[in-house]
Amino acid sequence: MIPISQAIQIVLQHSPKLASDEIALPDALNRILAEDIVADSDLPPFDRAQMDGYAVRAADVANTPAQLKIVGESAAGAGWHHEMNSGEAVRIMTGAPVPIGADAVQQVELTREPNGAGTVEILESVETGRSIVKQASEIKSGETVLRAGEDINAQTIATLASFGYSHLKVGQLPRVAVMATGTELVDVSEKPGRDQIRDSNNYTLEAYTKLAGATVKRLPLAGDDREELKRQMETAVDDCDVLVTSGGVSMGVYDFTKTAFKDLGAEIFFERVALRPGKPTVFGRIGKTLIFGLPGNPVSVAVTFNLFVRAALRAMQGASETSLPGLTAVLGKNVKGSKDRESYLPAILRTDENGSLIAEPVKWGGSSDFVSFARATALINIPADAKKVSAGSIVSGCRLPA
Ligand code: AMP
Ligand code: MG
Repeated sequence: MIPISQAIQIVLQHSPKLASDEIALPDALNRILAEDIVADSDLPPFDRAQMDGYAVRAADVANTPAQLKIVGESAAGAGWHHEMNSGEAVRIMTGAPVPIGADAVQQVELTREPNGAGTVEILESVETGRSIVKQASEIKSGETVLRAGEDINAQTIATLASFGYSHLKVGQLPRVAVMATGTELVDVSEKPGRDQIRDSNNYTLEAYTKLAGATVKRLPLAGDDREELKRQMETAVDDCDVLVTSGGVSMGVYDFTKTAFKDLGAEIFFERVALRPGKPTVFGRIGKTLIFGLPGNPVSVAVTFNLFVRAALRAMQGASETSLPGLTAVLGKNVKGSKDRESYLPAILRTDENGSLIAEPVKWGGSSDFVSFARATALINIPADAKKVSAGSIVSGCRLPA
């Protein structure tokens, strides 16, 4: 049995970064940048008005009301490119360039423009620089604004668009195949017969794989039959980068997943992790395809996928951050640790009336209790051998992907 941190280290060591794809900006959401993003212009590209109003010289309006002659208009996309002198004002719109000679913008609400007079009355003084965003005050041309390895989310898109990245390089998507094993399994569309249950793991694994940014193929259900498992695994490894199985890795007489991996010549990097739930997790490689043999219980599948498989899929895309977002929270009720194993227990996060983040462990019916798990938003980390961790203690953990 190896510690979780070591298992993750081993996974990352064996997860090679794939090549990059050149894609169009609208397709970039949720991908990982494979190039640094460099500003091709200053931001703002010119001194820019932040308000609708009048460009003025602050000194001209030190005493108010002040009467100024309107000498022009500067609109967004159609600036007034002359020099503005003392005693003059230029009507200006948000986003428009501020004329040379002006050093402040007074907002329209604090002015009065009598009809047809060609003048404006400035009702309140403004300090120099008011409502002007100076050229390059946000970003200088040539600056690196985002780095390879960062996630592209909705917040990132404006930066990519503004600096002209109509196409950009992102990490290739790993191709994942998921395969549930167990003679008891039937598909969701079927009514389970005697001794049978519906498969949920293939669908869970498909969902988490998509959240980790990879493409996924669900393989047909495989019974607990060594030859059948081998046949299916063999076809899967031919056209995927990662094969994820669930079930058949424990000590039962019909647990053949590991045997089948080995029959196919797999190198096994680990096969037991000091983790609850998820101790019998297997990680290895057949040819170039990484293989993860996850346990069968649905909660174990969710935990082990997110600790190990997700890290591999993100590393393969070149992500600089491969683990789930971490958190520190106040424990909502007493929990027990597990002998010799670190626990990752499902919890619901909430904020209490003092603003503290509370992690409320879900009712733990064991690693088969997927209905309790359905409301979890986080996993909390309980050290091995902890006899009792009391409500009110500070615990660390991670957020489940959403
Ligand atoms: P195993 O790891 O194969 O011993 O399975 C452990 C438990 O998880 C057993 O109760 C299985 O019936 C259950 N299980 C295994 N695979 C699945 C699956 N694909 N969907 C739902 N439950 C499963
Ligand atoms: Mg089984």
